[in-house]
Amino acid sequence: MSIRAFPLAKAKTLPSQRSSLFILVTFEARVKSQQALSALSDDIRARAKTSLDRCLESPKAGALHQVGALTTKDSDFTISILPKDLSAFSLLGFAKKILKSFLLDNHTQLILILDGFKEEDLFADCFGSALAARIFQMPVVGKKQVDAKAFKLKDVYLYGGKKAGQLMTEGFHKGNGTNVVRYLGTLPPNVLDAKDYGARIKKICQKLGFDFKFHSNKDLKKMGAGSFIAVDQGDPESGGGIYELTYSPRGAKNKNAIALVGKGLCFDTGGYDIKTGGFMRTMKGDMQGSAVALSTMMTAAAMKLPLKLKAFLGITANHISPKAYTADEVVVAMNGVSIEVVNTDAEGRMVLADTLCLANESKPIMMVDFATLTGSAVRSIGTAYGVGFTNEEKLHSRILSCGRESGERVWTFPLDDDFDKPLESPIADTLQCTKGPGPDHIYAARFLKKFVGQTPWVHIDLSAAENEGGLAHTDSLFTGFGVRWTVEFLRTQFKV
Ligand SMILES: [Zn+2]
Repeated sequence: MSIRAFPLAKAKTLPSQRSSLFILVTFEARVKSQQALSALSDDIRARAKTSLDRCLESPKAGALHQVGALTTKDSDFTISILPKDLSAFSLLGFAKKILKSFLLDNHTQLILILDGFKEEDLFADCFGSALAARIFQMPVVGKKQVDAKAFKLKDVYLYGGKKAGQLMTEGFHKGNGTNVVRYLGTLPPNVLDAKDYGARIKKICQKLGFDFKFHSNKDLKKMGAGSFIAVDQGDPESGGGIYELTYSPRGAKNKNAIALVGKGLCFDTGGYDIKTGGFMRTMKGDMQGSAVALSTMMTAAAMKLPLKLKAFLGITANHISPKAYTADEVVVAMNGVSIEVVNTDAEGRMVLADTLCLANESKPIMMVDFATLTGSAVRSIGTAYGVGFTNEEKLHSRILSCGRESGERVWTFPLDDDFDKPLESPIADTLQCTKGPGPDHIYAARFLKKFVGQTPWVHIDLSAAENEGGLAHTDSLFTGFGVRWTVEFLRTQFKV
């Protein structure tokens, strides 16, 4: 599929209009300029104008106005008038709504017409991501696989302001990044186990030219990664380990890499603290933190961001067996910190502890980790926001603003020293988690902080990774949340 952009002034020569969908989006404040209508050929314009006038008589901001087939039987045309000052989150949702309502699998062309102002530019970015999500085929198995229809869309033409084309293309790359996370999260656990995931990661590295290194569980045991091993040993044939990927573009701004770290539990039974009452369902998605780290690196490469990045993906599963770890065990992580195990279902922080240690040994200028880590994060904010922590006070505002700008919203929580009190252990350096109630997402972040040294660090608890009906530009249970936020964070924090 190709995206081509043209200035609005050149919109008189639209391409052939068979099997096309025209989408005209304009914002309340300026709709009277009707500049965007000049993009349409004479016959469509007359009918579109009538329709637009009708919309203006009773402007229902946010409503979709379809103007049926205007040229040939198989072309459709829709006008939307949006209220101004919509957030990126709303624009992503709106773009999804338009595409879900009107883009059919047999449309081969899509023509998006925008006024050339700031809001439309932001919409172009959001529309790009929503389009990538809409035409993407999620995994299905069996008969459903045979019946799945692919979108025939080939050409996308954008008529709008100077920046709109580039922004829409970037939005499309980010949307593809979201798709990678959704896809991997949706694969059943008997397909995407640690070995299969590893093979896919290796293939991606070969294709995109990333350096690839695998620290197997055997290597990690020798390296003293007792925290990772405690979880991984539950399946003696897990094939688990930590994948270390490097994206090192020519002309990168940074010498030492930015490390993206991810939790990759291909399945989480809870271990001996087994998940009951139906809570084990959807635990195939417990690897999405690693998918966000991996996919952000892929997206950065697609967008040619001049930043050296490393990804450290801690991949395994949490199973029951005579070898599986239990409460009361004391294990020692790579940096020498000993951990008294409290609850085997708090395995994510165990895996991340050593993955962060390993990442930190590469002397990154910053570490950002992603994990579907705590139920407490979900209880504190729901599933439409991510939860952020940092050991650098000044990064709080950056975390929030990137959430606003990207449409993947993140809210930050505190990380003060006194939250360590409930983690004190009589026999080890720290408890794995607390024994009683309390804000476990904060305790988990305090726990992780013990493995990041002095490196500037951001921890994202992916409370929005799973949301019934999707979120923002996506409509799948596993939302792919994180890639848009992270790209925005990298671009604004490191000015690329
Ligand atoms: Zn768990």
